[in-house]
Amino acid sequence: MTQHAGSSATAGYAPSPEWASRLAGIRYRTELLIDGSWQSGPDRLEVVSPIDGAVVADIAAGDASTVDAAVRSARRAFEDGRWSGLAPADRKAILIRWSQLCHERREDLALLHALEMGKPAREARDVDMRAVVRTIQWFGEAIDKILDEIPNVPTSSVALIQREPAGVVGAVVPWNFPLTMAAWKVAPALATGCTVVLKPAEQSPLSALLLAELALEAGLPEGVLNVVNGLGHVAGRALGEHPDVDVLTFTGSTAVGRKFMEYSATSNLKRVWLELGGKGANVIFPDADLDKAASTAAWSIFYNAGQMCTAGSRLLVHESIHDDVVERVLAIAASMQPANPLAEDAPLGAVVSAEHRDTVHGMVEEGVAQSGELLSGGAPVLTDTGGAYYPPTVVDNVRPDSLLAQQELFGPVLAITTFSDEGQALALANGTPYGLASAVWTNDLSRAHRFSRRLKMGVVWVNCYEEGDLTVPFGGVKQSGFGRDKSLHALDKFLDIKTTWMELGEE
Ligand code: NDP
Repeated sequence: MTQHAGSSATAGYAPSPEWASRLAGIRYRTELLIDGSWQSGPDRLEVVSPIDGAVVADIAAGDASTVDAAVRSARRAFEDGRWSGLAPADRKAILIRWSQLCHERREDLALLHALEMGKPAREARDVDMRAVVRTIQWFGEAIDKILDEIPNVPTSSVALIQREPAGVVGAVVPWNFPLTMAAWKVAPALATGCTVVLKPAEQSPLSALLLAELALEAGLPEGVLNVVNGLGHVAGRALGEHPDVDVLTFTGSTAVGRKFMEYSATSNLKRVWLELGGKGANVIFPDADLDKAASTAAWSIFYNAGQMCTAGSRLLVHESIHDDVVERVLAIAASMQPANPLAEDAPLGAVVSAEHRDTVHGMVEEGVAQSGELLSGGAPVLTDTGGAYYPPTVVDNVRPDSLLAQQELFGPVLAITTFSDEGQALALANGTPYGLASAVWTNDLSRAHRFSRRLKMGVVWVNCYEEGDLTVPFGGVKQSGFGRDKSLHALDKFLDIKTTWMELGEE
């Protein structure tokens, strides 16, 4: 266990006394979790806070041999039935207990989010932790409600269609919603009876370790959930290439998603599920509620500093309402300036790291040089205590084939393009390699149906953005990946369907 030394204020905001005092007392694990025990690894990894650039922890990091030990632990736990062999009601009780413990420790977990990846702690508590708790609870509740099938076959036979847990699951997750992404993978995998090796992003290992510690406390048997921190190209790759991992589930960049397909192809053809990048659009027609459309469009790109695969990074607006909408968006951009994530009222936190801030800034500079007019933001926010802050940035008149309209920046950067008719709006909305999520804003019912049907996206919103709950699936098409998180469909990723045909014979 390690204790954090404390942190200082940035960007004109002081940490709230409540968060500051919790930070002073917070304890977290720095080892790896393998086979139910906390272990050191062959390497070390520094966790640097984007709040102020301080090193907050020095943690154990795994390599290929560590990943192998974790996979062997998960395999043993799977094969001896210590988890999949438990009565569904007993497995359910453990996941429900785990979700309760996450709820009880939500402030600590939220604080670790802020410390590791810079999102406002309040937001992490109220949004991320609520999602984490509900996800684990929802999949826990589902465990004893899933039925298999007996089809109608000739009376001389009986056939069973059964869903069986696939085995050992590797889960590689990013830093932008560190625990939500972990819960979206781990909870349904455990619900099916699989065992898991989790590789958190190198920026956000501490919250994942606490999540796993709470799973043990809830009664999850040893070895059922293993956590190997480490570098992507070392530990993540080893998990992707491991011959005894049955399913690999990943959220992250399209580039790394491609690698997981290669790892699978050159190892054991493990099933790979990919939730990748996006280039979401808010398409606003003149008949929409412009106030709501503009404020939601602004929120959808500035929230979480734009570090979302679903971020509404493109605003496609009808030419007749362009000025009206842009004025509203700029007002919101001005009100969402970045601040210390530990300030109670921070509207926007830091971006995940100084490197990422510089990448985003480089792309903004290159993008604006290609096409567009910078209306706000566009330069890093400097503070007297360091840290990685980037302001809401709005670029108007962006050419649809240019960098800002085509590439995922993963920062608070909005690219605005106008259209003159529905056909053009649709072509623009679908005109990227991605197909994750977009929204259409209109009060014309026919257009809402027509347009949403033609959007090549896994998720479509009408007159809203980022809405949904655990009952609905989440995931993309095209180069945004395949497979669905959330909902009962998520369970399919971790289940094998077995057919058993029995001949009954003569009496
Ligand atoms: P990555 O896709 O690089 O990382 C996501 C996860 O994959 C991390 O756990 C990472 O480990 C791991 N990983 C990285 N490289 C490899 C590899 N060669 N083999 C196996 N695993 C690997 O995302 P980044 O965090 O680097 O962000 C880069 C860009 O990706 C962002 O700017 C954004 O465009 C996109 N992205 C999309 C996300 C989404 O929600 N769809 C989430 C995060 C990023 P490690 O942390 O050690 O690198």
